[in-house]
Amino acid sequence: MIFDKPLYLFLAACCTALSMVGCGPQPAALETDESGSYTVVCTVGMITDIVRNVAGDYAQVSGIIGEGVDPHLYKPTRSDMVKLSGADVVFYNGLLLEGKMTDVLVRVSGAGKPVQAVTEAILEDTDYLLNKDDGSEYTDPHIWMDVRGWLQAVPVVVDTLSAFDPEHMEIYKHNAQQYIKQLEQLDRYAQQSIASIPEMQRVLVTAHDAFQYLGRATGLTVRGIQGVSTESEAGVRDLEELVNYIVEQQIPAVFVETSVADKNVRALVEGANARGHTVVIGGSLFSDAMGAPGSYEGTYIGMIDHNITTITRALGGVAPEAGMQGKLSGVAH
Ligand SMILES: [Zn+2]
Repeated sequence: MIFDKPLYLFLAACCTALSMVGCGPQPAALETDESGSYTVVCTVGMITDIVRNVAGDYAQVSGIIGEGVDPHLYKPTRSDMVKLSGADVVFYNGLLLEGKMTDVLVRVSGAGKPVQAVTEAILEDTDYLLNKDDGSEYTDPHIWMDVRGWLQAVPVVVDTLSAFDPEHMEIYKHNAQQYIKQLEQLDRYAQQSIASIPEMQRVLVTAHDAFQYLGRATGLTVRGIQGVSTESEAGVRDLEELVNYIVEQQIPAVFVETSVADKNVRALVEGANARGHTVVIGGSLFSDAMGAPGSYEGTYIGMIDHNITTITRALGGVAPEAGMQGKLSGVAH
């Protein structure tokens, strides 16, 4: 069974050491489909998106951590607790992405309902997982950045929903196949698009280290100012080293992120400019949160398309006018 082991597998290392202070802005409520017969609650939007695609009309699916909100720092509110307690099924990312929700997820799981980490399948593929390169055990949780990796979350969702609602298993499988086809197309788009960047310029500098899986999948060298989690602040030395790197490599653009404050990235730009090398902010990327609910960027495909298209253009590659959206040509999403 998939319900009983993963929570402890993922959260065993938790989290009493983490102080419960500080959290980002509270999220705007995400849209909820009221027509379904049971309720599913997810942590980050990228998971909500998978579940909506797989469940179709058979579940009411909602998310907790909304647009522009940092999941590393997110501390659940009282109304989140009510939502989680009332859910029939709960999905979270795992790998300590939702570090400050650990106690709550353990408690909800203790009430006997399915609380499922979508990264469960990929956890078995230890060659795939990336570790923080400081020798610690901390595993990089940002699997969604590589579409091929994130694909592996889809069958986990299918299995979990099918176990709860076996009557609609075939529909969930069918919906998943359709969604996976779109994701495979997205992956091809990402590969082709990044490959169009001149080789020397395939360097992605961002606010925090969320893009390593994308880097490995597409051949981008990735440098984040803050680490894999945003919990620890970047030091002055980290910033100086990165400024040196940008100047030496003649990097044309760096990127801010929608769920992380932009002050460090702006400091990089100023530092490089002071050294006589002009670097611009190439755009704002969706790292750990999707765009506005109801918008294209408020879907997983739209989020990744936006990132890939923005990175490609700012670093001197060629992305088609309509990005991936043109390729999907009218596929409703
Ligand atoms: Zn992150």
